[in-house]
Amino acid sequence: MEEKRCMCGSSDMRVVACSGASNVGQIANQAAIELAREKVAGFFCLAGVGGHIKGMVKSAKEAGLMIAIDGCPVQCAAKTLQHADIEPAIKIVVTDLGIEKSPDLAPDERACSRVVEKVKEELAA
Ligand code: SF4
Repeated sequence: MEEKRCMCGSSDMRVVACSGASNVGQIANQAAIELAREKVAGFFCLAGVGGHIKGMVKSAKEAGLMIAIDGCPVQCAAKTLQHADIEPAIKIVVTDLGIEKSPDLAPDERACSRVVEKVKEELAA
């Protein structure tokens, strides 16, 4: 059987987002897209880790550095990684940046930029 691996991004640095059904979940997702577009980190399929897809869990474990962006303190992305024994080196929670959670699914551009900047600050620290 073909071993399934994540085909996203070739960077050794990977980013996952909770991609939750709220503004902050979608901000997390959009921030991960922007980090990938800027080639800061490869956007990694978190669902593959949650689904215990063997090759994808292996790829995630082999990442040089894993960034988890979560919308809110429930931290579904970080916990999904931790269930697979992967500890993210950087954990960002969008609501910790003063962005309030709401059911609006449209990601606010300024909030996305704030999250991207926060990731870059953490990487530089
Ligand atoms: S971390 Fe919060 S916003 Fe993201 S999926 Fe979980 S509950 Fe939803």
